[in-house]
Amino acid sequence: MSINSKRLKSLFKEINSITDTTFGAGITRLAYTNHDKILKELMIKHLSDANLKVEVDEIGNIFARRYGRESGLKAVAFGSHLDSVINGGEYDGVVGVLAALEVINSLDDDGIITKRPLELVIFACEESTRFNISMLGSKAMTHKLDRQKLEVLKDFRGENLSDIFQKYGLNLANLDKIKNRALDYDSFFELHVEQGPLLHSQNLQIGVVSAIAAPHRFGIKIIGTAGHSGTTAMQYRNDALCVASEIILAVERVAKKYADKSVVATCGNCVVKPGVINVIPGEAMILVDLRSTDLESRNLAFNEIKNEIENIQKSRNFSYKIKQISTENPSVLDKDLIELISQEARNLGLKHVIMPSGAGHDTMNISEFCKTAMIFVPSRNGISHNPSEFTSFDDIINGTKLLKNVVLKSANSSKGDFYEKSTFIK
Ligand SMILES: [Zn+2]
Repeated sequence: MSINSKRLKSLFKEINSITDTTFGAGITRLAYTNHDKILKELMIKHLSDANLKVEVDEIGNIFARRYGRESGLKAVAFGSHLDSVINGGEYDGVVGVLAALEVINSLDDDGIITKRPLELVIFACEESTRFNISMLGSKAMTHKLDRQKLEVLKDFRGENLSDIFQKYGLNLANLDKIKNRALDYDSFFELHVEQGPLLHSQNLQIGVVSAIAAPHRFGIKIIGTAGHSGTTAMQYRNDALCVASEIILAVERVAKKYADKSVVATCGNCVVKPGVINVIPGEAMILVDLRSTDLESRNLAFNEIKNEIENIQKSRNFSYKIKQISTENPSVLDKDLIELISQEARNLGLKHVIMPSGAGHDTMNISEFCKTAMIFVPSRNGISHNPSEFTSFDDIINGTKLLKNVVLKSANSSKGDFYEKSTFIK
């Protein structure tokens, strides 16, 4: 049951040697760039060297399959992503992928063939940095994306997704052919760095994720009256930015009220028009990201924010519009797998806690089609999406051992639900 820490470290070094240094500090591996392509080719070589059957789908997700002892059983899948934000860290996503490959290499070392097949997954374009859409790979695979919308999608530099795809060696026109491989999974596991402070601050080694929060994103457009900053006496003003300030504080108040239901809310941006020093703001647009693992509480909080805005209207003269940007449903992860991971963590003597995830992960999209679970390892001081992101190798090895044990238990389980022929992926 050996995990080879030398092999794991060397793969870690190799992965993180590939970064776009023109962006400066930390790791920058934006999806569908040259750096992303070089890394994927390197990974495909490693996966093939491990005697896995490698396939790349129409959105660029990579799948590497290890056959099981019995045919016709659904696979146990596990993996994460390798793309990063701009000036990100070395651990986000990478830990899950390198642990996944180490699990397979270590099973080879042990001479173990599991009953079910195993499938290592590297999801394409998990980060929303390039296109403002997160988890492009897992969403496309689970048929949650509209090709027409992707055809007009541009990256932050204004480059078309279809042109980007062409350069990368993919064809957007083929997207309709994409298979939902999650239908072929018995279960899916993702090991990931926590990206928050809980485990590190409480000196815990493992987080067993109970649910993944999902955002409701919306804009609040406030329409007041622009006017001369010198000639308009205070009692005649309808200042949209003053209204926005009250709304921003109301959003914070509401989120704090529902904090025990894991509600968090962020007003991440406020654009003021005309936005000059000598004109009273006539218009303001606030961008709100409201999240929870509990959909009902998130909806209650949203309604309360609307009530608060209407209360503000009693003392200020303005109109407003709410512009819906996106809503995603929180995922509740599988109870049996949470229990299995907790049990295996206990067996390994690892201090663990069951906790929600505030960040979104590819697992969310897979969770609608098979049993899913996530394992967190600590992030020093909770820092992530930052060059100083850090997770110790001891923690990574603990997570990898745990992943191996739960994968082994799941892949040898006799509760065999056989393929429906129609969903079988050749
Ligand atoms: Zn990630």
